[in-house]
Amino acid sequence: MGKTSYHFDPHTLIYEEVKRSIGQTIWAVLKQLIIGIGIGVVLFVIAFYIMDSPREQQLKKENKLLVAQYGVLSHRIDEYQKVLDDLQQRDDQLYRAIFNADPIPASIRRPGFGGTNRYEHLLDISNSELVISTTKKLDIMTKEMYVQSNSYDELIGLIKQKEQRMNNIPAIRPLSGKDLKNVSSGFGPRIHPIFGDLRMHTGIDLNAEGGSPIYATGNGTVESAGWEGGYGHCVVIDHGFGFKSLYGHCKEMLVRPGQKVSRGQKIATVGMTGVASGNHVHYEVLVKNKCDNPAKYFFMDLSPEEYSEMLYIAEHR
Ligand SMILES: [Zn+2]
Repeated sequence: MGKTSYHFDPHTLIYEEVKRSIGQTIWAVLKQLIIGIGIGVVLFVIAFYIMDSPREQQLKKENKLLVAQYGVLSHRIDEYQKVLDDLQQRDDQLYRAIFNADPIPASIRRPGFGGTNRYEHLLDISNSELVISTTKKLDIMTKEMYVQSNSYDELIGLIKQKEQRMNNIPAIRPLSGKDLKNVSSGFGPRIHPIFGDLRMHTGIDLNAEGGSPIYATGNGTVESAGWEGGYGHCVVIDHGFGFKSLYGHCKEMLVRPGQKVSRGQKIATVGMTGVASGNHVHYEVLVKNKCDNPAKYFFMDLSPEEYSEMLYIAEHR
């Protein structure tokens, strides 16, 4: 029911009812409606764009927390990177150097991420810069750690090899100290005791009673054990790593070709088979099939003084 309006007439001094047309009435209603909608829109805009809903407030809080935590994470990655840098440096300058391994080139240690932008998909998100830089740091560190771990694997291999090498290469005398009488002939050119001419003596002659035990001077595999012309009964051991040892003029041979032997194992006995003027073992060390002075390989069972004396004898007799 519409309100009735009155108009005060000063002449008649009475209130007269104001008659409105239908158009005026519709306009009045419309006007109220437009104002109402207008206020509604303004309130909506304020509520939507300026004031946050509780859920939005919660999300904003969470987002802020996440950004802060990302910052902490990024900082931690920087610290881990420093630790990794230190490990890499020590690896190149110390560990790899000890085992004669070349340092790992920087191009392999510090991988690049050239080409297409692999972080493109992260560009759309808010705080993309922080997320991208953190992700990138993690990626780089992951690659560097992979390289470092490979380097350690390589070093473990080298350590094992070095250990095996130490066990394999000839390092003791083939006769025990109590059996060894003397060194009758050293390494190098000499007048041959039987032929009387100047010949290269390719080993060292160690005198002992016939039947004294001859020991393998390093771990290895028996390459041959048989008659070898002037060497008589002769055992050859292949030690790997380019090393071989030879034991000539044996009385008995106690090993057969293909047999694995270890350092200190009795492989033969002293004799004078082949071209020999008395009981002795003719002992040779071959490095890549070239004869080397065997006395150089007596370092393990001799004191430094005995060793240098043995070297002197081997070179002067
Ligand atoms: Zn000899």
